Amino acid sequence: MSLRKNVRVQIMKIKFFTVGGTIDKVYFDRKNNYQVGDSRLHEILKEVNVVFEYECESILRKDSLDITDEERQIILGRVAEEKHRHIVITHGTDTMVQTAEILRSVPDKVIVLTGSMEPARFRSSDAEFNIGCAIAAVQLLPPGVYIVMNGRIFDSGRVRKNVELGQFEDI
Ligand code: ASP
Repeated sequence: MSLRKNVRVQIMKIKFFTVGGTIDKVYFDRKNNYQVGDSRLHEILKEVNVVFEYECESILRKDSLDITDEERQIILGRVAEEKHRHIVITHGTDTMVQTAEILRSVPDKVIVLTGSMEPARFRSSDAEFNIGCAIAAVQLLPPGVYIVMNGRIFDSGRVRKNVELGQFEDI
């Protein structure tokens, strides 16, 4: 049976917003710790040779534990005014659920949030896998807000991060 008969995948432009989080962290030698740096997203997309059109834009460069309510409103405003319908947001995992909750007021867009438990710069990172899953998901899902982590698609209202296990789960 041909997949084409059942699934209609549209070719569209994907808008990526980066907000920070561990996915973008870099080792900062002078302070002996990790800080949010430039996103590697564009390099990753080039390296894996994607053949869809996309744009990347940075909104914030913060650990998501430090994102304020005002900054979440800025993220909401930027996503709401975006002309493209298919949106992937890379975000820190600790408060991804809160940002997803706020974005639920945006109509008619497919919004997927993802991030990683280890910086994209680490060889063992889950970043590339999660970005790949998010790209596939945003092309197939109906309008709404989703979290794509740990190889699963979660509905934004029914997910939490299990901090002890370092993974997302249903609620
Ligand atoms: N504290 C980080 C954040 O939420 C954790 C992560 O991204 O996994 O920004």
